[in-house]
Amino acid sequence: MTPAYIALGSNLGNPELQLREATTALDSLPESRLLKVSSLYRSLAVGPGRQPDYLNAVALMTTDLPPITLLDALQDIEHQQGRVRDVVWEARTLDLDLLLYGDVQIESLRLTVPHPRMQQRNFVLYPLREISDTNLALPNGTKLDTLLQQCPADGLVKTPGKLYKS
Ligand code: ATP
Ligand code: CA
Ligand code: CA
Repeated sequence: MTPAYIALGSNLGNPELQLREATTALDSLPESRLLKVSSLYRSLAVGPGRQPDYLNAVALMTTDLPPITLLDALQDIEHQQGRVRDVVWEARTLDLDLLLYGDVQIESLRLTVPHPRMQQRNFVLYPLREISDTNLALPNGTKLDTLLQQCPADGLVKTPGKLYKS
């Protein structure tokens, strides 16, 4: 089994419900186990025009699914929860990104791992910190703690809500 970290985000409809349903779906994936889900974090939307705030979280799974099969499964969950194919960074009901898949590095047409923009995103790094080991590092050796030192938590609010497992 390989540890995989998934970023969850939603800023349309009922974001907390979307994320709750997404964790239930992650928990039912074949050949996989959901181990931990972070607190919910509220963050300011980036992207075109004015958008509602985002609700974000990070989940830790272990899985025997190959990375591309896991991506297929994440996109199936997005579609089941009503996401329509739209403009990148537009408001959406559910966004599931594969952040890390063990120490594997992938650069293919459909999949880049580690997720190429996770290093600058406080709404990814802070929830990741909450559910990971103190010495978690990217495959290139960069420690999560180093990334956090370079990434202010501006605009990010940890909420008291809990989705699932801690
Ligand atoms: P960002 O990737 O900056 O967070 P986004 O999540 O809004 O933007 P999407 O429209 O959800 O972007 O995804 C665009 C494409 O990114 C997907 O169709 C998928 O093939 C590709 N992709 C590449 N690497 C990953 C990854 N690690 N996790 C999820 N999708 C990925
Ligand atoms: Ca995303
Ligand atoms: Ca995405």
